[in-house]
Amino acid sequence: MEAGRGSRMAAVFVPILALIAHATASGGTDAMPTDKIPIVFSPRYDMGVLGIERFHPFDAGKPGRVHRLLVEGGIDPGRFFIPEKVSDKDLLLVHTPGYLSSLGRSAAVATIAELPVAALIPNAFLRRGLLDPMRYATGGTVLGANLALRYGWAINLSGGYHHAKADTGGGFCFFADIPVAVNKLWEDKAELKVLVVDLDAHQGNGTASILSGDGRVHLFDIYNRDIYPRDGEARRHVAYDHPVGSGTGDAEYLALLRRELPRAVEETDPDLIIYNAGTDIFERDPLGGMAVTDRGIIARDEFVFRTAIGRHIPILMVLSGGYTMESAGIIARSIGNLIGKVLSPDTTGRAGGGN
Ligand SMILES: [Zn+2]
Repeated sequence: MEAGRGSRMAAVFVPILALIAHATASGGTDAMPTDKIPIVFSPRYDMGVLGIERFHPFDAGKPGRVHRLLVEGGIDPGRFFIPEKVSDKDLLLVHTPGYLSSLGRSAAVATIAELPVAALIPNAFLRRGLLDPMRYATGGTVLGANLALRYGWAINLSGGYHHAKADTGGGFCFFADIPVAVNKLWEDKAELKVLVVDLDAHQGNGTASILSGDGRVHLFDIYNRDIYPRDGEARRHVAYDHPVGSGTGDAEYLALLRRELPRAVEETDPDLIIYNAGTDIFERDPLGGMAVTDRGIIARDEFVFRTAIGRHIPILMVLSGGYTMESAGIIARSIGNLIGKVLSPDTTGRAGGGN
């Protein structure tokens, strides 16, 4: 099973490996290590607490699985960027001290993780198995945002915790990695304009809540209106708010995206797009309630990247939700498709208007 999947991945990657060097050398003007590819991964991303994660509808090892498929597809493990764990200081750019200290109580962690049994587990185990992986992933989004500005694009093989708010977590999201990354960039680049494109099946209410009221950032969100979190207050802060119904499939979904995203990009004219690429819109995802196929997801990712790259706008993709056992394979195939088709020298840095 694994071998079969690996050889299919190899078939995807072999023709495109030669393009990676061109793709990674085409954005930015800084001196860059050309042996690297702007994909961020840490072995510390995968979650696991005494096996209890098996009781959650989650592939807790999704980042590691995507990474392994990319390596099997031909990307040398040494070419990935490895993030640091995000510091308390950086988390405090968006979170309250009271919220961060509440995570020292297992009951609070259990509520956010939607794992009631976790309330019974010593906090040190939760820190090691859940909170630290998400701290590394948040560090990965911070690093990825910087890499996107240097390389023209970047992908963090985790992150996208879009339900976390300043003073609370929710929906398995502890740290608001996208707002942290945006605030970190603003420390040096106070004028930087950001468009967050959230295409996870769930509404990105935490991101909207934290970034609301700041004219330097706009949000574009397509999500299933019938599922968690149904946050009416957060909707008011989303400039491009596109709820859809349960059962939305490829044709309707992609038509909406193709009609609305270019307009949002033109109107907001961002210096950076952060793309929350949840795969829980997948037809067999137990949580998303939508009916988009694997081909639809790959077409979606390609369209978002073409929209950014074609306009020379740097883009960072984070993986967000989507934890079926098929998710990692779809993501790896999509990344292979992006590297082969969108990030090739024919479309990066030279051609305009790629969509
Ligand atoms: Zn989701």
